[in-house]
Amino acid sequence: MSQSGNGRPQARESYRVSVTKDYLVFASAHFITFAGHRCEGLHGHNYRARVTLDGALDPESWFVFDFVALKHLMRDLCDEIDHKVLLPLQNPKIQIGYEGESVTVAYEGKPRYVFPKTDCALLPVTNTTVEMLAQLLATRLRAELDKRGARGLTAIEMEVEENFGQSAFYRVELESLT
Ligand SMILES: [Zn+2]
Repeated sequence: MSQSGNGRPQARESYRVSVTKDYLVFASAHFITFAGHRCEGLHGHNYRARVTLDGALDPESWFVFDFVALKHLMRDLCDEIDHKVLLPLQNPKIQIGYEGESVTVAYEGKPRYVFPKTDCALLPVTNTTVEMLAQLLATRLRAELDKRGARGLTAIEMEVEENFGQSAFYRVELESLT
């Protein structure tokens, strides 16, 4: 909020920064479950992430957040799940098991896949939809920002695109970081 000194009404100002780069991509395999008894076959996407941070200007550097640091954080988050099979740990229809160095996947009790453990990203989500992936990336980014003592941020918005022109957004307001 700022007060202009010339009698005009107060104006509410806000700033945000946004990052999307060629390297903020992850090429991963997944399948999702639908309502009822329908489950996709395994397939892949070249996912792309874009993040936007809303916040106050840093009083010494006059930016919302350091672009270089934000790009590094996002790149690490994408790299973690790049070239992996994305598996949801919280889907009631999917049972994940472990056998030695393998991960077994059953759908409604019926065995479906066996993957090498090193090729899997076991994710704390209910389904690997782009909505849930956006929420996961935003949650992980928020934890990293917290760790680094980021201040003044008021929102994180994460977009995950799975095909050209087909993406989901997740937005979280950050009371605790202000
Ligand atoms: Zn898909």
